[in-house]
This record gives sequence, structure tokens and C-alpha cells, in this order.
Amino acid sequence: MPSLSDEQQLIANTVRSFVDREVIPVASRMEHDDEYPHQLVEQMKALGLFGLNVPEAWGGSDVDYTTFAIVFEELARGWLGLAGILGTHLVLCDVLTRFGTQEQKDRYLPVLAAGGRRGAIALSEPNAGTDLQSITTTARREGDHYLINGAKMWITNARHGEILLILAKTDPHARPAHTGMSAFIAEKGEPGLVVGRDIEKLGYKTVETCELYFENFRVPAENLIGGVEGRGFKHVMTGLEAERINVAARGLGLARAAFLEAIRYAQQRTTFGKLICEHQSIQIKLAEMATRIEASRLLIYSAAEKKDRGERCDLEAGMAKLFATETAADVSLEAMRILGGNGYSKDYPVERFYRDAPLLVIGGGTNELQRLIIARQLLARHSID
Ligand SMILES: Cc1cc2nc3c(=O)[nH]c(=O)nc-3n(C[C@H](O)[C@H](O)[C@H](O)COP(=O)(O)OP(=O)(O)OC[C@H]3O[C@@H](n4cnc5c(N)ncnc54)[C@H](O)[C@@H]3O)c2cc1C
Repeated sequence: MPSLSDEQQLIANTVRSFVDREVIPVASRMEHDDEYPHQLVEQMKALGLFGLNVPEAWGGSDVDYTTFAIVFEELARGWLGLAGILGTHLVLCDVLTRFGTQEQKDRYLPVLAAGGRRGAIALSEPNAGTDLQSITTTARREGDHYLINGAKMWITNARHGEILLILAKTDPHARPAHTGMSAFIAEKGEPGLVVGRDIEKLGYKTVETCELYFENFRVPAENLIGGVEGRGFKHVMTGLEAERINVAARGLGLARAAFLEAIRYAQQRTTFGKLICEHQSIQIKLAEMATRIEASRLLIYSAAEKKDRGERCDLEAGMAKLFATETAADVSLEAMRILGGNGYSKDYPVERFYRDAPLLVIGGGTNELQRLIIARQLLARHSID
């Protein structure tokens, strides 16, 4: 853990005790029942978490990226789904804060920061996820409105969230394609938007992930983010850079939780006359798990500190996301092995960690994509031309 200021420590302690006291005791039961955690969301609002990256002028706390990562680490230690409710909401806040017009910020940031209305980001489509430039959703200007047509898929917070960041093509023929892409902030309520089914998932339950259908959905022209067409792809990509730090921190939190279950269990379970933690093969697992968790921590907080200094950190954030989420997936499986049959049972939270972890490898830019981003940056930095 980096050395923390008093303010950072206070936030870390507050979120940690919220997770210990309120989240961990109910997380597995609610996750198995796929029950939406309204009460916990109210408590998160009271803690100010929905305004974490919103400037104080609009009612947020505008924390640094280190604190941002700590909050996600702690939430995911308790329950990944809860971190999911916050994650894309804060991407929307980030994009709006950086690129929104004054009027857009004044109108939306205060209510988003308070959590009075929550946000979702609608980028992916049935036929375009990693390759976002091939989306087919369009936004056609008609008078003082845009008409949005198309379909989005995998949209977290789409049912309970009320404000959407929509990525669409204002010029579907533009080449390169991203120069014809624009981002909009839209409120539910106008006709032409249908929230489809909640997609049934392996894990990451409780937080809903839905399909969205747009048919001549009207968005006022003043809701074009930044007021200029053709910049939406850049806006979204910038927002996703911060998201990589939050997804990496979620991986760290989840891996820590799985490790703690495993090391506790290993000191209680006896086989062949000794505690399983005395078997060398279990010790090797514990050592490898803890080492990878510590390495994840260092990568994440180093990327966060770099971003806090205002330096470009897509390489570091990509490395942190890649390593920490692969660690989460591997450590949750190792924890399951250490718990033996109990690891596979719903009586212990390890099966939940194991089901939740793969999302982190896919979401926030797949880890295959992270490797490409990392390699591209490395080649640029080490160019021999
Ligand atoms: C639970 C959940 C929640 C989500 N929430 C949201 C959300 O809130 N908003 C949103 O917009 N999206 C969301 N997504 C979508 C998510 O961002 C995409 O699933 C992800 O970007 C991958 O896109 P895809 O599923 O279309 O896979 P594809 O893009 O079809 O990729 C399939 C496979 O090919 C690989 N691949 C693709 N291109 C390359 C390449 N050039 N080189 C090497 N490998 C490649 C990928 O890494 C992957 O392994 C969510 C997804 C899930 C599962």
C-alpha cells in the first residue's frame, strides 16, 4: 500500500469498515438470490461514493486516483457487483467532467454526484465490443434533436441507471470511422428507448446487464457531449483509461478476498494428521498467490500515482489491468482448490469469487486488447528509428 495522507486514510478506513460491517455479511446470500442491493446503494450515496471523481463545485469529492483505486479495491473485496454499480457511473461522470459543456456539467453532475440518478455507459453492441469503431448505432440530426437508432448490448446499470452515455455514429461513412463517432448524454423517459432483457450471467449478479433498443429515440442537440460531432470515440477512450485502474483495483480486491479465505482455511483444515498449511504444496500455492497479489498492488498504485501526476499512463494502467485481473482469476481458482470440496460449495464465498473474476478479464477492454495496447506503447517507446 502506498503511504497515504490523512484524508486518503480516512476514506480507506470508512469504506473498509462499510464493507466489513454491511457488505460481507449479506453479499453471498444476496448474490445467490440475484437481489438488487437498494439498501447498500443508499449507504454508498451517503458515503459520497457516486461523486468520487466529480469536482467539488458540482458536489463531488474529486479524489485522486490512488484513493479511487482504494475504494474499488475495498468494495470488490466484499462484493464485485457492488463495485460494478459504481464503475460505469463514474466513467460517465469522468467523461462529462472532462469533455461536457458548462451547461451539461451544471445540469447533470450534481445529481450524478449525489447518486440521486445513476449512470450507465452504452458502448458495446451485439456485433461490436472490442472493435468499437464498427458500431452501427446512428445519431441523425433533425432540427434541435438527434434521433438515435440501433441496439446496445451488455449495458451495466441499464435498468436502475437513468442517465446514459451513448456512443453513436453521426457520420457512418467517415474514414477513419472514429472521426464520425459522437457521444451523447441522454435521459430515460423519451419514447423510443426500450430496456430489453437482463442478460443471465455466470457471476457479477445483482448488478444488471441489459440490452438496449433505440428507435428514433430523441436526444436534444445540446446533449451532444462537448457540443461538437466526431469526438465521441476519443471521449470514451479517455474515460476507459481511468476505468482500467478501477477494474485492476477490483481484481486486487477480489484476489485479496479469495486469498484471505484460503489462508484462513488452510490453518483450520487437517489432513493426514497435520494442518493443510503444513503441506508444502499448499504453502507453495499460498506463496505464489500472495506474491502475485502484492505485484498487482504495486502495478496499480504506481499507475494511479502516475495519473495523479498528470502523466500519460496507458501503458501502466494496461499492465496493471492485465496483471491484476489475471491474478484475480488464477487466485480465485487456487483458493477453491485449497478449500477442496468446500471451495465448490455455496457455503463459502470462494465459489462467488471464482464466478465473478472472469468478467474482469473481459470487461474494461479484454486482456487480449490490453496486451496489444501494452505492446504498441512499448514499441513506440523503444523505437529504433
Ligand atoms: C458482465 C458484462 C458487463 C458489461 N458492461 C458493459 C457496459 O456497461 N457497457 C458497455 O458498453 N459494454 C459492457 N460490456 C461489454 C464488454 O465491454 C465487451 O464484452 C468487451 O469489450 C468484449 O467485446 P465482445 O464481447 O464483443 O467480444 P469481441 O470483441 O467479439 O472479442 C471476442 C474475442 O476476440 C478477442 N479479440 C478481439 N479483437 C482482437 C484483436 N484485435 N486481437 C486479439 N484478440 C482480439 C477478444 O479479446 C475476445 O477474446 C460488458 C460485458 C460483460 C460481460
